[in-house]
Amino acid sequence: MRSDQLSYPPAKAYYKRKMRIIRFKTQDTPPQFGWIRDSRVGVIQGDPFGEFRRFEETYDLSEVKLLLPCLPSKIIAVGRNYRAHAVEMNNDVPTYPLIFLKPPSSLITNGENIVLPPQSKRVEHEAELAIVVGKHSRWLTRENALDAVFGYTIANDVTARDLQVLDGQWTRAKGFDTFCPVGPWIETEFDPTDALITCHVNDTLRQMSSTREMIFSVQQLMLYISSIMTLEPGDLILTGTPAGVGLLQAGDKVSVHIDGIGTLVNPVTAQG
Ligand code: MG
Repeated sequence: MRSDQLSYPPAKAYYKRKMRIIRFKTQDTPPQFGWIRDSRVGVIQGDPFGEFRRFEETYDLSEVKLLLPCLPSKIIAVGRNYRAHAVEMNNDVPTYPLIFLKPPSSLITNGENIVLPPQSKRVEHEAELAIVVGKHSRWLTRENALDAVFGYTIANDVTARDLQVLDGQWTRAKGFDTFCPVGPWIETEFDPTDALITCHVNDTLRQMSSTREMIFSVQQLMLYISSIMTLEPGDLILTGTPAGVGLLQAGDKVSVHIDGIGTLVNPVTAQG
């Protein structure tokens, strides 16, 4: 790429500008970061979490394969963060955030298959807003907690409900390969305080709520989690699911939509 194709200065000034960040590859290029405007894709040179340059759009979206939008060192998830979901599971509303981890090996991206494991008879979807961490952070304060947020994406906290009940703790039920669909991109400017979140399985609406129903806000979650563990750029925080979780079966297609971000779609298959 020629230097005269540079269309923007280093991105510090654009950090807070509305931008859709992706990772992608083409037939001829290895995985790299990029950005999307409408249906056109431009290359990002450097580290989108640090210093980088954006280049003009050179690809059509149809020419590229979208990959996971970030590569987290860990995925922290929040349980029972919507009152109506806590109630539907016969649980009390927590007095402090209930957190657990999902392994990075559970990640898949938009369009990839959720694989139902033979150990479970009841795998369920959980539509969730995901925070993408932007900075190396520990002991964030009320004042700087939101500055450590890079952006937001869409997640599905797929859960083997029968195993969750059986085990008591959640690592197995939430940790199978393919149980963490995330994507298709990161929206850097998004207001998480009142966004519509829906989940369809095939054509049936299963979940519909607003992020304003979250018990613990994005700011509170960043504060709380950073008081326990160091957050790194690209780490994901799944902020909990609204009511309406339900069964996934082989042949289903599950779509999670968040207004202002987009739609994450994953087919469901049985383990071969
Ligand atoms: Mg969840």
